[in-house]
Amino acid sequence: MTESAPPPENLPEQAQDHGFDPEALPPLRDVIARFGLDARKALGQNFLLDLNLTARIARSAGKLDGVTVVEVGPGPGGLTRALLATRARQVIAIERDSRFIEALQDVIEAAKGRLRIVEADALEVDALELAPAPRAIVANLPYNVGTPLLLGWLANIEQFVSLTLMFQKEVADRLVARPGSKAYGRLSVITQWRADARVQFNVPARAFTPPPKIDSSIVHLTPRANPEPADWRAFEQVTAAAFGQRRKMLRQSLKSLGNAEAILEEVGIAPTARAEEVDVAGFAALARAYKARA
Ligand code: SAM
Repeated sequence: MTESAPPPENLPEQAQDHGFDPEALPPLRDVIARFGLDARKALGQNFLLDLNLTARIARSAGKLDGVTVVEVGPGPGGLTRALLATRARQVIAIERDSRFIEALQDVIEAAKGRLRIVEADALEVDALELAPAPRAIVANLPYNVGTPLLLGWLANIEQFVSLTLMFQKEVADRLVARPGSKAYGRLSVITQWRADARVQFNVPARAFTPPPKIDSSIVHLTPRANPEPADWRAFEQVTAAAFGQRRKMLRQSLKSLGNAEAILEEVGIAPTARAEEVDVAGFAALARAYKARA
């Protein structure tokens, strides 16, 4: 992990109007041309160059006054500019592709100490260590690492004010899917166990440069006030077993956990039920019963 600039000191604790003007910087297309920033598919590089759209994403994060915002993958910096125009205390942007670090220098200067760029793989960065509370994450995520990043943050979501994230629309639909629907799966259950998740708006493929093959959605997640008690690891194991064979009855799919029939009977779920019929409270009860026997 390398830093493009020393961590700023003496940042105000109170929310302020920082007077950052995203339009005062060179247009993003010029930045891309000047630094030869051709998009690399392997790094999920689909850029947002419309500052109205990036401002809308920043607004959909809700109130960021005095919050330290972590952004994953600033790229040429369209969303970064929008975040700096809020009353966030600081933006810490994690970027894996070193070509963007140089291209972001103008933004770093204009941000007057409120922007810190960390050159690293976001999968290897602990956002809790990086950013002081109150903290939030806002990101147009690289698609190939979106789900593992989300799972890592969900495990500690109570430590965040919110997560506002761009996903492929199909993934966003899974995050908010209800039991019994086709999109309902392990990701739905784990997400809704820990967070209140809402799709804010859809973003058509043509809004990106270059356009991906599919549409995307912005999802806003806040920590759930009273999540059902259960051990994270046990919850992961139970949902992996159940949805690993989602067409099978639970007495079959949960066999790998040990005494599946006894666990199901203990929590009052029919052994003939299938994973897609069980709600979050049901999975939390299964995780508790499994953990108690393990
Ligand atoms: N935020 C920019 C925007 O909205 O135009 C770029 C978004 S683009 C979808 C994803 C960005 O994440 C790229 O800049 C890419 O280089 C970066 N990236 C990809 N994998 C990453 C990783 N593992 N850690 C940190 N950044 C990553």
